[in-house]
Amino acid sequence: MPQDCIFCKIIAGEAPAEFVYQDDLVVAFKDIRPAAPVHILIVPRKHIPDLTAITEEDKELLGHIHLVAVKIAKDLGLAERGFRLINNCKEEGGQVIYHLHFHLLGGRQLRLLG
Ligand code: AMP
Ligand code: ZN
Repeated sequence: MPQDCIFCKIIAGEAPAEFVYQDDLVVAFKDIRPAAPVHILIVPRKHIPDLTAITEEDKELLGHIHLVAVKIAKDLGLAERGFRLINNCKEEGGQVIYHLHFHLLGGRQLRLLG
């Protein structure tokens, strides 16, 4: 695990986070700078730097992330109203933390991305 990766530290219990879900493959915790009433990060335990680094062996993991996102959305009452699941990939995609993660956003009307 990269020593300087904040998400690896959170997964290892070496940095704090407000977890909302955990299993063998992923963890989910609240974003420290929420952009919506619900803003959760869904993060694989495996350190994958960004979406372009996925391989065939990550297929199940990526499907699992989507199932977990829907489970969390349902648990938080967002499944009927709707929500957004996004990945920021590399510099022009706005990625800041280079450990793959998906943002689950909801609880208000979201506008088009720019
Ligand atoms: P991205 O731009 O997709 O890389 O998003 C990184 C996200 O991680 C941002 O929304 C940050 O607010 C969030 N973040 C950074 N550090 C932490 C942390 N220690 N705990 C929770 N969220 C964090
Ligand atoms: Zn990491």
